[in-house]
Amino acid sequence: MKKFYVTTPIYYVNDKPHIGHAYTTIIADVFARYYRQKIGKENVFFLTGTDEHGAKIIQAAKKNNQSPRDFVDQVSNQYQVAWKALGISNDYFFRTTNPNHKKTVQDMLQTLYDKGYIYKSLYKGIYCVGCEKYLTEDEIINEKCPHHPTTELTEQEEENYFFKLRDLTPKVLEALETEKYRVLPIEKRNEILGKIRGGINDISISRTGVDWGIPVPWDNKHTVYVWVDALFNYYSATRIIPQKEHFWPVDLHLMAKDILWFHALIWEALLLALDKELPKVIFAHGFFSIDGQKMSKSLGNIIDPLELVNSYGTDGLRYLLLTSFAIGNDGDISLSKFKEKYNSDLANGIGNLVSRIARLCEQSKYNFIPVFEKVKFKLDLSIEKAMTEYRPDEAIKIIWNQIQKFDKDIHNEQPWTLSGEKLQKILESYIERIIPIAHNLKPFLPDTAEKIIAIFGTEKIIKPESLFRRKNL
Ligand SMILES: [Zn+2]
Repeated sequence: MKKFYVTTPIYYVNDKPHIGHAYTTIIADVFARYYRQKIGKENVFFLTGTDEHGAKIIQAAKKNNQSPRDFVDQVSNQYQVAWKALGISNDYFFRTTNPNHKKTVQDMLQTLYDKGYIYKSLYKGIYCVGCEKYLTEDEIINEKCPHHPTTELTEQEEENYFFKLRDLTPKVLEALETEKYRVLPIEKRNEILGKIRGGINDISISRTGVDWGIPVPWDNKHTVYVWVDALFNYYSATRIIPQKEHFWPVDLHLMAKDILWFHALIWEALLLALDKELPKVIFAHGFFSIDGQKMSKSLGNIIDPLELVNSYGTDGLRYLLLTSFAIGNDGDISLSKFKEKYNSDLANGIGNLVSRIARLCEQSKYNFIPVFEKVKFKLDLSIEKAMTEYRPDEAIKIIWNQIQKFDKDIHNEQPWTLSGEKLQKILESYIERIIPIAHNLKPFLPDTAEKIIAIFGTEKIIKPESLFRRKNL
């Protein structure tokens, strides 16, 4: 692999960032950092951003007594602040209100129109403002949208432009079956295959009466449906930002499973119609509950990631989220156990191991610089395997097993009973062992990794302040 282009969805700014957005974005960040280590910084492009158009934004802005422009500026900024606090290393922050994006979308749409993939027709259907889309029959449960149970669904009828999704479906199906692009995990791929084989209708790609959006280039009464506008961000970014063109196609689209459909079918169909190369992998992670409860506004358990950063630090939160459950599955984030886990794995785990070794080195008064400089780093093969299988949660577990084993070995070897050459040899072996662990840790806990490298990369090693201060339970 010569380049790696990873994306998160662009998040819809009708509301501020929550722990769900943080989860997806941290996973993407781990992949970006991992590939920077593997193939070089200049060969990785990590994109995230915000989706800022549509009827829902107008509503949300009104509610806040703001203009849509001021409103999206403010919320988009909240995302950027949050990602900074979480140590997110995106190379660019994309906003769909970027005027250059408007041009890309209009060019793409015009091409599709000229090629005969778009036509005008009357649309009638049940619309969910929460999802910003018409729902199909099987998406309506007890007359409600399952994702927005408090939103009243309305019947709407309007003249729309339609995209010939149905005609393109056999091509998409073939591409998916022959793995021209992959949908992961495998159960999700099967769901998508089943749904496509069940038959697909054309989709409406424009709205009237929504003036906060990108105008359809040949008919200004219509604006581009916000989902289509949003999907194009991934392509748009490689055109707008200088010297990113060669990053297309995307190597890894990451997202929560509720928006997989847009990416696994509609996005592919748009690209096929435009004769563009398809993304390589679309990975949908599962949903999670918080302490066994579904996250919802009405339950008041929408978690602000910044509050968690305040409690556990950037790396602490990254660790706790990444190790909560297997990323492809649904799971639970047990906030109630965070403190305990923080103490056992971080304060008493990596934190204690580092202090222990550093203290022994300090007391020995040897100069370890030559050893430090000699240590060669190679990515751990088992970690590489886990990452290739899109299992960063598994990769981090491997590192923690190494930490535990290390701790046990120190306990057995009792270096504090040794002196002279024996002590020096064993301490050198510890440094040769802790530095590669730190390097492997970089994608996951970047600050901690750098701190460990700094602690042992100096002539006079001294026991540092705790990397993770114990929490009172
Ligand atoms: Zn909905």
